Amino acid sequence: MKLILLGAPGAGKGTQADILCKELNIPTISTGNILRAAIKNGTPVGMQAEAYMKAGKLVPDEIIIDIIHDRVAEADCAEGYILDGVPRTIAQAEALEKAGIVFDDVISIEISDETIMERMTGRRVCEHCGTSYHLVAVPPKTPGVCDKCGGKLVQRHDDEPETVKHRLEVYHKETEPLKDFYAKRGLLKSVENQPTVAATSQAILHALGR
Ligand code: AMP
Repeated sequence: MKLILLGAPGAGKGTQADILCKELNIPTISTGNILRAAIKNGTPVGMQAEAYMKAGKLVPDEIIIDIIHDRVAEADCAEGYILDGVPRTIAQAEALEKAGIVFDDVISIEISDETIMERMTGRRVCEHCGTSYHLVAVPPKTPGVCDKCGGKLVQRHDDEPETVKHRLEVYHKETEPLKDFYAKRGLLKSVENQPTVAATSQAILHALGR
């Protein structure tokens, strides 16, 4: 199963992808996590991406397409994968199609900008493995420590309020048109954000016919 998770920054794509990849037994490919790891490791891609990410801007399409192209060719992607945070622009979606990378379903998580602004202040990520937590909705077992790897939990620079506002504008302008793009291909399934993480996962699995 090849799946795209669409939704605004803070819609819960990363959290849902973590749950769905276990449920469906396929890997998640998060360009945000791949880029953050590249920055941490000081790779050429990381150095190119860093300024864009800090400003809440999109990283150039060419960089993203190269990342996806290489990642989906790896052995663990043979049975499918979940894309989290990519494609982010029509140009990226067209480039994936051109490269022969096609999808079975596209899930769009629907949530208001107001709810997102409230939510983002509580988000924390593991600086080591990239797992997402939320101080209220998905707290770690030990405050400040990743359940999975013991890494330190930090607030992302791009989760600060002004940057979140900008990222939401970018989402509405650049990414939201993808709903129409995939609706025209008969792939779009819209799922309303639910009061709990588990209820949203259920709604997604239901939309996927599971
Ligand atoms: P995310 O973790 O998906 O919220 O992504 C964090 C940041 O990484 C974004 O604000 C962008 O700067 C960059 N990024 C991640 N995925 C993409 C993408 N598909 N296209 C462009 N920029 C991206």
